[in-house]
Amino acid sequence: MIPAAFDYERASTLDEALELLATHGADAKIIAGGQSLLPLMKLRLARPDRLIDIGRIASLRGVRRLPDGRLGIGALTSYAQLLDDPEVMDLALMADALPRIADLQVRNRGTIGGAIAHADPAADMPALLLALEAEVVARSATRGERTIPIATFFEGAFSTALAPDELLTEIRLPSPSGSYGSAYRMLEQQASGFAIAGVAAVVGRTGAGAGNGVDDRARSIDDVRVAVTGVGDMPYRAITVEEALRGTGLTDSAVGAAVADITRGISVQGDIHADQAYRTAMVEVMARRALSAARDRLG
Ligand SMILES: Cc1cc2nc3c(=O)[nH]c(=O)nc-3n(C[C@H](O)[C@H](O)[C@H](O)COP(=O)(O)OP(=O)(O)OC[C@H]3O[C@@H](n4cnc5c(N)ncnc54)[C@H](O)[C@@H]3O)c2cc1C
Repeated sequence: MIPAAFDYERASTLDEALELLATHGADAKIIAGGQSLLPLMKLRLARPDRLIDIGRIASLRGVRRLPDGRLGIGALTSYAQLLDDPEVMDLALMADALPRIADLQVRNRGTIGGAIAHADPAADMPALLLALEAEVVARSATRGERTIPIATFFEGAFSTALAPDELLTEIRLPSPSGSYGSAYRMLEQQASGFAIAGVAAVVGRTGAGAGNGVDDRARSIDDVRVAVTGVGDMPYRAITVEEALRGTGLTDSAVGAAVADITRGISVQGDIHADQAYRTAMVEVMARRALSAARDRLG
């Protein structure tokens, strides 16, 4: 299928991209890897008047260690580059998820910035970044830079806190102190690979002496984060599950009881791939698996 006619401009620097966005605002769309936007345009579900191609802005690509110890991931970093990065792959939930996202071609072209700016309610990366408590850096020509906690970034299906003239430039991952384990478990829709239900879990012992390895196992797990994708109209943190498990040893029975609340307050989606009851049952299973794996990795 052929998209509707559009104008096209390629920005070679970040400033140029921001100027183009400031000039054309809501009539323009950023294109990065094009893996989500182009299919929508071909189906004419998106009909931007103008595309601003940021794909060759080198400064937006790559992973770096920030002076404060956090990991900074440029918005244009592809899944394939993330898979090649040892510091990203050290995060067990990333190592779980990245090899399974999409296929080789999409992983070569698709970017982390595009994945979260698109805000597909069944995408994997939003759940991973919610569990990691990432921060999103956005920039506009007129207002400069601001940071958005990932917890307030997603506003609904395909909707984010980014303004029409803002470009997402970087994603920052905190470098937590203490000992941590993490995991991502998902049931995928066989044809597309998108999540029917996906759960990212991060658990940690952060109290005094945590991580010194001496008597870590006796210490309770005081940081529990559970993020869900594919289930509601946007990814979310399962706060009631987290509260129920915080301060426990995350025994199988505690986890089993807590995950029964994972869809509390959420309008569970039903579609031809999974009705509401099946999706609800599956997200509980994925949560149990993700939490148990994260706990076991914590040691
Ligand atoms: C066959 C196929 C299978 C897939 N399977 C999976 C899967 O299993 N799991 C999964 O999670 N995803 C999957 N995806 C989706 C894929 O992850 C995304 O398409 C891709 O990551 C989007 O990145 P992109 O660079 O291609 O974004 P684009 O398509 O270029 O852009 C997507 C949207 O984000 C905006 N945008 C992009 N970059 C920026 C930026 N820096 N600042 C502001 N706005 C920006 C664009 O304007 C557009 O609205 C699949 C896609 C395909 C085609």
